[in-house]
Amino acid sequence: MKEAIVFYPAPLIGHLISIVELCKLILTHQPSLSLHMLITTPPYDTSSTSNYISTISATLPSITFHNLPTFTPPHTLLSSTLNHETLLFHLLHHNHPHIHQTLISISKTHTIQALILDILCSQSLSIASQLNLPAYIFVPFGASGFSSFLYLPTLHDTYNKSFKELNIFLNIPGVPPMPTCDMPKPMLERNDESYKSLLNCSLAAPKAAGYIVNTFEAFEASSIKAISNGLALPNSFTPPLYCVGPIVSTTTNQYQNTCDHECLRWMDSQPSKSVVFLCFGSLGVFSREQLREIALGLEKSGQRFLWVVRNPINDQNHNLALGIQEDPDLESLLPKGFLDRTKGKGLVVKNWAPQVAVLSHNSVGGFVSHCGWNSVLEAVCGGVPMIAWPLYAEQRFNRVVVVEAMEVALWMHENAAGFVAASEVEERVRELMESERGKQVRIRVGVAKDEAKAALMDGGSSHVALEKLLKSWNGQVS
Ligand code: UDP
Repeated sequence: MKEAIVFYPAPLIGHLISIVELCKLILTHQPSLSLHMLITTPPYDTSSTSNYISTISATLPSITFHNLPTFTPPHTLLSSTLNHETLLFHLLHHNHPHIHQTLISISKTHTIQALILDILCSQSLSIASQLNLPAYIFVPFGASGFSSFLYLPTLHDTYNKSFKELNIFLNIPGVPPMPTCDMPKPMLERNDESYKSLLNCSLAAPKAAGYIVNTFEAFEASSIKAISNGLALPNSFTPPLYCVGPIVSTTTNQYQNTCDHECLRWMDSQPSKSVVFLCFGSLGVFSREQLREIALGLEKSGQRFLWVVRNPINDQNHNLALGIQEDPDLESLLPKGFLDRTKGKGLVVKNWAPQVAVLSHNSVGGFVSHCGWNSVLEAVCGGVPMIAWPLYAEQRFNRVVVVEAMEVALWMHENAAGFVAASEVEERVRELMESERGKQVRIRVGVAKDEAKAALMDGGSSHVALEKLLKSWNGQVS
């Protein structure tokens, strides 16, 4: 029977992309493996995911996609973006029997060497143990975030209040002192369903056969060391850690043809390292007021910019857009005359830009980022310094790490309501592009870029880790 590896990503495009990239990496080492991907179909628009999967299936026939049955959740879960994480865990819970069945059906024709579960799908480790399959957790964010995830049960037992009610710094192994308010969003309120689900995932994690993390040793040395030395899991055995990153997307963009995108042609005509790129992940959105403030700040900064703008949200407390994103009407959204006044110096694109291509373009000089982990790694691989402006998920946590520990970003300051003034946008952008401090951050990210390259090369730390992982699947533990 053919040997197979089965992957189970969470239904988030960023997670899916990095799992597919992991597949590509594995195929370069073991092209004969048959790879299977279990796909959750969420009850909201998934054209981004389905477009992406069509592109991948056309170019990578070694991956077979298995669509799990759609779950129709109660109306209350769908009605608001408030419950996004809760909805996600409901979907994953609903998948359980279907995962079990699909694994049995794959095993009729294949020998399943390993099941790779997205970290958010860790509760499916129990299915793997029922079927006697070695299961690994794939961590699409860094080792620092992973340390906080593994350490959650310890923190839960140490404090009897929610992090959002505590105003202290947490000591998480290998991570800079972390303000409680900067912990990943689903961890903030201990009575939330998403917190409980995450805690359960974390409690299940020691049962994994190993952890595959999208990072590299030189980038997160202290958190990697802390996890490997068992500090993040003080009460159980720590499974082996395989840091195989940086894994960044190399696929032609799933939404538009990367090579043809107008913004790349525009970048070609800009001076070297002169353009500030503003892009906020697959889901990031702002209020109308915040969009205008960004525009004013950019204009005053006098810097060249490339800015991805989406339709605003009405609820100012949430910066997360699910579902269809209609094209924004830029004239009505941005300050009067802004587009004319900045013509030539700035370009606004609607909804989506080919980020990896932009970040590796010679004209890009800075990146205002929401600090999603893929974006952080893509910036590092492009050697582009960042301004960190987190919006959702674990991005505030990532900001602390990239600013304080890695020193590859400057901190964007928001007010208590999360609003960033035009003057702050202006100052931070200028600081990154013109100041001595900006220069230091640029130098540091340049070093990280070289370290990333070295990690992936033959004999580099990530290359060696991947080989060890593949050997462990073949039963040759090294
Ligand atoms: N992305 C892109 N163009 C956009 C917005 C996002 O290509 O306009 C890609 C980006 O390159 C990254 C992914 O979408 O690979 C976003 O992942 P990340 O982890 O940064 O953030 P998330 O979307 O998960 O919050």
